[in-house]
Amino acid sequence: MQVNKSCYKIQINGIVQGVGFRPHVFRLASELGLSGWVLNSSYGVFIEIEGTPDKLDEFVGRIIKSPPPLALIREYTVEEIDPPGYEDFNIKESKNDDSRNVMISPDIATCPECRRDVSDPADRRYLYPFTNCTNCGPRFTIIKDVPYDRAKTTMASFPMCPICQAEYEDPLNRRFHAQPNACPVCGPHLTLFNRRQEIVLESVSNLLKKGSIIAVKGLGGFHLAADARNREAVAQLRHRKRRDAKPFAVMTRDLETARMYCKISPDEEQFLISRQAPIVVMQTREKNGLPGDIIHPGLNTLGVMLPYTPLHFLLFDDDLNILILTSANISDEPLIINNEDAIEKLNDVADYFLIHNRDIYNPCDDSVINVTPQGTAHFFRRARGYVPGAIQIPTSSRPILAVGSELKNTFCMTRGNEAYLSQHWGDLNHYNNYLNFLNGIERFKNMLAVQPEIIVHDLHPEYQATRWAKSQKEVELIGVQHHHAHLASVMAEHDLAGEVLGLICDGTGWGCDGAVWGCEVLRGDYQNFSRLGHLKYLPLVGGDLSSRRPYRMAFIYLVSALGDKGIEEAGKLLPNLQPVERDLILQRLDSQREIFTSSCGRLFDAAGAILGISPINHYEGQAAIELEACADRNVHGIYEYSIETDAGMIIMNSLPMWLEMIQDINKKLPAGTIAGKFHTTISDMFLKSLIKARENTGLNRVVLSGGVFHNQIILLELIQSLTCSGFEVYQHQQVPPGDGGISLGQAVIASERGM
Ligand code: ZN
Ligand code: ZN
Ligand code: FE
Repeated sequence: MQVNKSCYKIQINGIVQGVGFRPHVFRLASELGLSGWVLNSSYGVFIEIEGTPDKLDEFVGRIIKSPPPLALIREYTVEEIDPPGYEDFNIKESKNDDSRNVMISPDIATCPECRRDVSDPADRRYLYPFTNCTNCGPRFTIIKDVPYDRAKTTMASFPMCPICQAEYEDPLNRRFHAQPNACPVCGPHLTLFNRRQEIVLESVSNLLKKGSIIAVKGLGGFHLAADARNREAVAQLRHRKRRDAKPFAVMTRDLETARMYCKISPDEEQFLISRQAPIVVMQTREKNGLPGDIIHPGLNTLGVMLPYTPLHFLLFDDDLNILILTSANISDEPLIINNEDAIEKLNDVADYFLIHNRDIYNPCDDSVINVTPQGTAHFFRRARGYVPGAIQIPTSSRPILAVGSELKNTFCMTRGNEAYLSQHWGDLNHYNNYLNFLNGIERFKNMLAVQPEIIVHDLHPEYQATRWAKSQKEVELIGVQHHHAHLASVMAEHDLAGEVLGLICDGTGWGCDGAVWGCEVLRGDYQNFSRLGHLKYLPLVGGDLSSRRPYRMAFIYLVSALGDKGIEEAGKLLPNLQPVERDLILQRLDSQREIFTSSCGRLFDAAGAILGISPINHYEGQAAIELEACADRNVHGIYEYSIETDAGMIIMNSLPMWLEMIQDINKKLPAGTIAGKFHTTISDMFLKSLIKARENTGLNRVVLSGGVFHNQIILLELIQSLTCSGFEVYQHQQVPPGDGGISLGQAVIASERGM
């Protein structure tokens, strides 16, 4: 007899696919003795649940308050309907439909239970590299289409064995409806071979210990692995990868091992062991036994990650606890994801290949962060573990595609008030990166079921992304100034409304006056901005050449600051500057036809070059990064500079400091002392300009963005001094301050304008 039964129809949206939502619902329904069904569709999770009203309310409360660990409920509705008289509880087949509101989960690091499975000799998954469950494993990198089901992933070609199938169908099992579920019987397999493609039976860790370089197929792409303690192996890797100076990341066997090499704060530990498992850049320990000079030349920080798939556990043993694990790409080319490409392109880089037969569909590099004193993430690269997680934005508009910048490109697509940032595509001047970018756009459109109606681009007419945007038909185009996008990007992260001040410091951005901007005090909101001040203009002789050869910019600073004396000092301090190049630059300076720049990146380059730290940039921003690394943080006092006003514009003039810097160099003061004082000077100059901007505008909120804010000394000193001066200061937490975060700002600006 049916007594007093009710029925609720529930719809839940958010990250609900691939996170064990249905089994969770099933278990709860069983526990409470409720009947009905649950269905996963592109619209989200649907539930009809029947039972006594008190049990139903308990059910709803528990689902919403404690969803499965990886789920994120964005919204839900509950509607009472007539009880159909369900007798039991079922999980219905997935529905495929057009409007897809679900979100795809990023890839998730191996959970503790799966880690236990693979380290238990009695378990059938002992040492099985593809072990996963509902709480962990590959997601974004294997998903081809939504809704998320095995058939739509690169696991489709591996039919489950009866035991796996039984786990998959058992609502009480941790692997219930775990789409990538696999075991040694039915799942993907590893193969290890040498350059001649002969199978090798020796263990991977033994080969690594002998100094071999191994190409390892990972979650979002191939890595190159080498024993990080083996100087010869690391040097070989650097040589073969044609990577002159860029720091390598490492993976340690576990957290305890990581502590041997780095000083790890409790906050850093939390990020290391998080399910996103990013590379965390941390201070190294002195005398940690690593050849630091070739792993992270010129730096005292090291990027460390922990194993995030069972395959990684297999690379280590009792005597091998730290590996270089660097993305397998050749210079600035894309990450390699196919076996064939790896074998072909890495044949003279890797000695061995550890490959497997599960395809990587979406390439995704490791994410790189450091942790701020406030305990928040500061992103250098936002990719694996975070993409394609949504970022909430203030407004909802027609679908937007923001195509980002040129270097460190990401794009951003919006659906309602959610912004989806892509993984990093790198420098779009490389054709293959550009192809990946185009391909990525199509995949995001499909994944989000969105057809962008507005395309947003940078004002730089020669950016590849801008050119592509302008070639698109039947869409509305919106051009956004580079530094305005940086500003809006921080505002969006913090959901700021109204006008703010922005200090945006980076290498280059297309300015509204024909100059190359890069150190700008702005006021603005999502709609508009105006420029209140900037670093004093200097001629940029030779454009891009200046960013690759910091000594050229140092010369221009010396000449501009000191005239003939500057030329004389350059002769002593800039050995890379040959007389021919020097005369050519002087001629061009005389001609007065050069483009002008307020680039902050070039100012740091110049300071790095003058101190002999890094006269040539082998990778983007090297001089600035090494200048920061060498700076003595206990130095007090500042060099002379001036803040001037020109037709209402605040001009930060750093030229006066050059005479004093030269004097300090000639006094043979340590480079670290001078670098330290340089940093303090710049921070002070920024503070004073912002105070002036506040006086002029009455605005008290400041957002900080631009690649220069990867510099932790400037960032932290400035935040502290601004806060002491009563400013409300906002920095990035979810996207990089550099150009990898710019597409978010572009999207938000368009979202406000395009409503
Ligand atoms: Zn697991
Ligand atoms: Zn199996
Ligand atoms: Fe920028």
